[in-house]
Amino acid sequence: MQDLTSLWQAVLEKLEITVSNVSFVMWFKPLKVIDFVDNKILYISTNSVSAKNQILRNYMDKLSEAVRDIFGDEVEINVLDQNEEIEYIEKNGEKTKNKEIELTKNPFNSKYTFDNFVVGKSNQFVYAASRAVAEHPGEKFNPLFIYGGVGLGKTHILHAIGNYLREYNPNLKVMYVTCEQFANAYIESLGSATKTKATLEFRAKYRNLDVLMVDDIQFISKKTSTQEEFFHTFNELFQNNKQIIITSDRPPKDIETLADRLRSRFTCGLIQDIQSPDFETKIAILRKKCQQEKYVIDDDVIEYVADKADTNIRELEGMLSKVYFLANLMGKRSASMEDAKAALDNEAELEKNEDVTPDDIIDAVCRYFDATKQDLIGKKKSKEIVEPRMIAIYLISEILEIPLVSIGKIFGGRDHTTIMHSRDKVSVQLKTSHKTQMIVGEIRRMLKGG
Ligand code: ADP
Ligand code: MG
Repeated sequence: MQDLTSLWQAVLEKLEITVSNVSFVMWFKPLKVIDFVDNKILYISTNSVSAKNQILRNYMDKLSEAVRDIFGDEVEINVLDQNEEIEYIEKNGEKTKNKEIELTKNPFNSKYTFDNFVVGKSNQFVYAASRAVAEHPGEKFNPLFIYGGVGLGKTHILHAIGNYLREYNPNLKVMYVTCEQFANAYIESLGSATKTKATLEFRAKYRNLDVLMVDDIQFISKKTSTQEEFFHTFNELFQNNKQIIITSDRPPKDIETLADRLRSRFTCGLIQDIQSPDFETKIAILRKKCQQEKYVIDDDVIEYVADKADTNIRELEGMLSKVYFLANLMGKRSASMEDAKAALDNEAELEKNEDVTPDDIIDAVCRYFDATKQDLIGKKKSKEIVEPRMIAIYLISEILEIPLVSIGKIFGGRDHTTIMHSRDKVSVQLKTSHKTQMIVGEIRRMLKGG
């Protein structure tokens, strides 16, 4: 349960980083949340008719994006002016104060669907197997084990299965967890004061499912007691013909220190790999992305990006947005070849680089901001140090791709959700703030030795 006012506060916090300061203060800050009905319709009010019109005309995109992030994908927004607010409250009473809400937010990203998944040679078998599993959970391939490199669509496909089941089989109990979430939840239950109860609750939660999806299972490799718990969860579900879907960056045989009995469980269904996309698939993915995001970009630019990008689809998408945002910054409606070259050639692309260590990144950030390492990884909360810290966290996560928990350890034992929050905040800023783009670009160049 959460109260409405703090949920609204979270929406405002999101908006604060996605819109300019001026628009935030002018248009968003004065908004008031009035009511949230049936987990579906959100009522907010503005202080004037003209403010309402401004919001409706210019800011609905940003507003609904932030609202959807917090309240869930299917939420409808109703903007009221002052008079309408008074009428609403007269009719329905004042609801905001302490209204407690149990969000039934869709845990699956609504963009990650089968429809949005471009099928090519590299992923057609994973697509077909996932589709079959979504249509007949527990009956076809069990477990379905999908493996492949970073950014090739594993998480997307799991969410696609989730979205499909939500739509066509809404009564099924479906759960998606990352391996880290599973491990953390388990460890938390062990550490709880009422340990037995917590462990039983943990088991009840994971063993009474129709479909369990575990993302990035490779991180289980060093966690012996979590492996043991997962083994029992697996058996319980499997014996009851419940569907299990697992992803990993490598096949079961290459996951080190994986207990043999778990390895053999993973191998008893279908193991399918997802490969790097070929050129045509890359182009198709970029086209789809342009459609979705309403980017106007020339065909030759798309080819240029496809050619330039490595095989990681996340990177491919990142490059496309970079090109688009650069064009946008310069006030153009569509991106040309010139923009693409400016955005991608100058960019000191630092591919995943084994030579760079977390310390190198921390050093570079400290040099850039003239801060000390002690402050950067320490507890200080002043604005001067929080921004560098978030950028360092973002860069470590982006460049080194190490787990959030490990990054948390580097930063003085911070919780992985804090780390995730920092990383995501910078990702969002990078899309909208020229300043952040420049800072991050500069530090990346420093890391390259430039
Ligand atoms: P992984 O989990 O394998 O690291 P993700 O599922 O997070 O990769 O995918 C990275 C990005 O690439 C996501 O934005 C995803 O939507 C996109 N993507 C991956 N594969 C495809 C595909 N076949 N079609 C469209 N988008 C894709
Ligand atoms: Mg993933």
